[in-house]
Amino acid sequence: MSAVRVRFAPSPTGTLHLGSALAAVANFLFARRAGGSVVLRIDDTDAARSRRALESVIRQDAEWLGLRFDEGPTDGGPYGPYRQSERQPLYREHAQRLLAAGQAYREDGTDAVHFRMPQRDVTVPDAARGDVRVPAGAVSDFVLLRSDGTATYSLATAVDDALMEVSHVIRGEDHLTNTARQLVLLDALELRAPRYAHTALLVGEDGTKLSKRHDAPSIAELRGAGYPSEALFNYLAQLACPAVGDEPALLGALAARFELSHLSRGPSRFDLGRLDWLSQEHLKRLNALELARRVGAVLELRGVAVHPAQLTALGPGLKGCHTLVEASEEAEAVVRAPRTTPRLEAGELDAVRLFAELRAGWPEPFLDLDDATQLIGDLKRRGAAASLTARQVQHGVRLALTGRDRGLQLPYVVAAVERDDALGRAAATVAAAA
Ligand code: GLU
Repeated sequence: MSAVRVRFAPSPTGTLHLGSALAAVANFLFARRAGGSVVLRIDDTDAARSRRALESVIRQDAEWLGLRFDEGPTDGGPYGPYRQSERQPLYREHAQRLLAAGQAYREDGTDAVHFRMPQRDVTVPDAARGDVRVPAGAVSDFVLLRSDGTATYSLATAVDDALMEVSHVIRGEDHLTNTARQLVLLDALELRAPRYAHTALLVGEDGTKLSKRHDAPSIAELRGAGYPSEALFNYLAQLACPAVGDEPALLGALAARFELSHLSRGPSRFDLGRLDWLSQEHLKRLNALELARRVGAVLELRGVAVHPAQLTALGPGLKGCHTLVEASEEAEAVVRAPRTTPRLEAGELDAVRLFAELRAGWPEPFLDLDDATQLIGDLKRRGAAASLTARQVQHGVRLALTGRDRGLQLPYVVAAVERDDALGRAAATVAAAA
């Protein structure tokens, strides 16, 4: 049995989008399960549309998602170079062989080299679906070398998959006819073909194909919307291979349950509500410090200054949030003083005065959660003795500290607002009412 080698072959013509990410996750899980390796190969055969800068953007998006590569343009490896633009002589050599054998021909008038597609059905042995028949006529003769001598996707990919000893190619079913071309090409070249498996098409909630142009969110957009990478990875794994289960799971468990023979026959519907749910579940499972660290990173990007003690205090309180963006908005509402001074009714103002008195009695700049809980308990007792309701106490203090009438549970708020800051917010609220 030969070693499992898979490849992720993005075209650097745009950022990483969902369809490519789904295929990449499937390849990665399969390699992980088999202890195989993952090759990053840059499919830049379209020189006019390929951009070197996008190569690193795609790579960063993929790495953010949790993918790791064993070989590639920046990592090197024994099968390089890993950019197709740097492998042109190899492709020309193979095209020459096909020309010499009469399996390819030059188009009159141009110098383009075409492959002579045999007029017979092609059977694609698909590791997930069994044999898939691509009828003769579905694929006609196709270009191997353009008139400028550069190779097309079909030639470059067939040659590279063989020379890089790629054992398995997992990609979207929209590539089925490409697979038929590449199989026939490899057969003509007497090169060994990888095993192929096709994943179901990714469709939007309305059932139509998700495409780059058709509102499919990119990985970068989903990241910007605050979905933790574990949730998105988990969701893509579920879409590619439902056998990984419905429950929230991380890489190890997903790889253990990933089966090539159980790839989705789809179509796979991209459901944002489902991603939201997974996102919330993964955020709940993150340890509070890690959650705090990620929320801190989002706040930093937004230019919000936050003290580490505040993040520590808020971390456990943010676990119910759906996304990191929601979590950082909750955190920001506590960290920043209210922009406008809230208006409180008389009883609530009394509660704020009492709060300030009690908080002044604790010298620590930041209270821990237990102390903040104790302070609020004392406050409610003192408030009750002065005929204030628990609601007046809670609502008053929350409004004075955050300017909002809902948000994180009060102990987190009280723990995360520094002493002088808390006294200042309380004083401003009281002064505004005078
Ligand atoms: N660059 C192609 C794509 O992103 C690669 C397809 C393949 O896996 O061969 O669709």
